[in-house]
Amino acid sequence: MAVEVHKFGGTSVSSVDGLRTAVRVAEDGGVVLVVSAFAGVTDELERLVVEAASGGAVDPGVPLSLCEERAEELGVAEDGEVREVLGEVGDLLRSVVVILRQLGRPDPRLRDLVLSVGERVAARVVAAFLRSEGVEARAFDSWDIGLVTSDQPGNADIVRWEGTRGLVEGLVEDGVVPVVTGFIGRSVGGYVTTLGRGGSDYTAAVLAGVLGSDAFIWTDVDGIMTADPGVVEAEVVPRLSYEEAVIAGASGAEVLHPKAVEAAMNMGVVIRVGNSFTGRVGTVVCEGSPPGPKVVAHRLDVVLLTVRGAKMVDEPGVIGRITSALGDAGVNVLAISSAVSEPFVNVLVSEDDAEAAAGALDGLEGYDWGLREDVGVVTVVGRGVDPSLVRVEGALVGCSALEGVAYTVVVPEEDVEGVVRGLARVVTRSLRSSVGGGRG
Ligand code: ADP
Ligand code: ASP
Ligand code: MG
Repeated sequence: MAVEVHKFGGTSVSSVDGLRTAVRVAEDGGVVLVVSAFAGVTDELERLVVEAASGGAVDPGVPLSLCEERAEELGVAEDGEVREVLGEVGDLLRSVVVILRQLGRPDPRLRDLVLSVGERVAARVVAAFLRSEGVEARAFDSWDIGLVTSDQPGNADIVRWEGTRGLVEGLVEDGVVPVVTGFIGRSVGGYVTTLGRGGSDYTAAVLAGVLGSDAFIWTDVDGIMTADPGVVEAEVVPRLSYEEAVIAGASGAEVLHPKAVEAAMNMGVVIRVGNSFTGRVGTVVCEGSPPGPKVVAHRLDVVLLTVRGAKMVDEPGVIGRITSALGDAGVNVLAISSAVSEPFVNVLVSEDDAEAAAGALDGLEGYDWGLREDVGVVTVVGRGVDPSLVRVEGALVGCSALEGVAYTVVVPEEDVEGVVRGLARVVTRSLRSSVGGGRG
């Protein structure tokens, strides 16, 4: 028996309309659902951690009332399990906030504990809603079905799943629809962990791998699109390879988490991305895809470092010294570029890593460096991207991230939207002509 995995994101679980597809697949049976926290709840919980740690006036009432409002809207505020979980997480948040204020820093384990509340509540509310629709649904925390994560707070990996398949299949055979928390886990060492923001997709992909099924990722758009539809007009991309989807996700197309794609690739899971409001599945992510550019992704949360050495021309090991210093400081280098005759190297890092990067470069003797925060990075993803398509006026840096699969340009932040718009037009034209060509 193959139990299908269907994951519903934050907007999808937040209303009766968004849950329409959940009701349909649950009624058909043979499924396990994975759910995210309600829209906005994880952001509010994150804010709570930061504000409590900085000694500010904090009110766990804000994320809690967001959850209560959703439960009311879905007509299940009086469900016993919903009331119980709301009471429990209310107590938890109030105590953790006090500890964070005393600590005076956003302890990563306490942060994970606070963030875990969003998914724990959503699973109970969604299960109660499905029960009110006549489906025998039951809520589970991911550890209740045997998923175990690494100990890494904030970005744990799912590392064990003993007994998971038997347990889920047994429930489904008994006519139960399990509703499992995405994004959160319990670690080998017994800590509550989170898998990285947006990580419910990853829970779903791993669970599908364990169950030997496809992973349906239901969200608020029709699939992976040629660009962020919230920024420019975009079209659905029917098919992406794993490699393309990993790069698109890491380059800013947040619709599908890159960790989910990586897990799916390693476990042989086909991912189908669709719109939970309409039931339409627009994109399949699997092995291989037709050549050509497919997605224009962008990120604004980056900084550009320009590192200059007293002697960099004909000097072996320069790039190695720079990247080792950054690596030793725990900085993840997103992109790097230099030209043959120029005495400097451009390095792109996430703004979260900027401080650590600055410290690491200060420690390098004989190098000067500068930092620009007002930049964004735009990446065209697709096997066989022709760099001549990615002609961008005013680009600060251009580099090929992976031979023939992605092309990246760094541009001033105020130019990002225009560059995305221009490149999305090019990608859409190319996609249309290849689909048309395929048919003809
Ligand atoms: P969910 O809560 O369902 O996981 P996310 O907010 O994580 O949803 O991802 C869906 C959102 O991703 C879309 O609403 C859209 O704004 C954004 N997005 C960014 N880039 C893309 C893209 N290339 N294709 C589709 N959506 C994208
Ligand atoms: N609720 C989590 C977040 O907002 C996980 C997810 O949505 O996938 O990051
Ligand atoms: Mg998401």
